[in-house]
Amino acid sequence: MNTNITFSMIKPDAVRNNYIGKILTQMTEAGFMIKAMKLTELTVSQARAFYEVHKERPFYNDLVEFMTSGPVVALLLEKDNAIEDFRTLIGSTDPSKADKGTIREKYAESIQNNAVHGSDSDENAVIESDFFFSRLERV
Ligand code: ATP
Ligand code: MG
Repeated sequence: MNTNITFSMIKPDAVRNNYIGKILTQMTEAGFMIKAMKLTELTVSQARAFYEVHKERPFYNDLVEFMTSGPVVALLLEKDNAIEDFRTLIGSTDPSKADKGTIREKYAESIQNNAVHGSDSDENAVIESDFFFSRLERV
C-alpha cells in the first residue's frame, strides 16, 4: 500500500522558537501539499497515546512532558513517495547527526526537542492523521 500521504507535527520547541513559517516553507518547496493543518495542544493522554510504541523506553515520560509543553502544528501532507521523501527532508532523529540542510539540522534543539515529527510507514500515516483530523478538516 502506498498512500502518498504522511502525517507531521511541528513540535513545541520549533513553535516556541518561531520556526513555523520557515518549516512550512521548506515542506511546501520540497513538493509537499498541505491537505490538513491545525495549531493545537496535546493533552497528556493524547501524547501518551501518540507515542505509545515508545512507552517502555527510558525517555518516554520526558517525551510526553515535552510534547505537552506548548502548541504543536499538526499537518497532513501529500506527495509521491511521501513517507521516505519526508523523512529525508527532516533528517535523523538526532539533529547532530542530521544531514546539512535538513529541517532537524537547521531548527532542532536536541534529540528530544527535534522540531518535527514524520510518520514512519503508510499504515502509521493513516492512523496518525485519523488521530488528529476529521474528514471535514481535510481537503
Ligand atoms: P518522530 O517519530 O517524532 O518522527 P523519529 O521517528 O525520528 O521521530 P523515534 O525513534 O520514533 O524517532 O522517537 C520518537 C521521538 O522520541 C523522537 O522524535 C524524539 O523526540 C524522542 N526521542 C527518540 N530517541 C530519544 C532519545 N534517545 N532521547 C530522548 N528523546 C528521544
Ligand atoms: Mg518515529
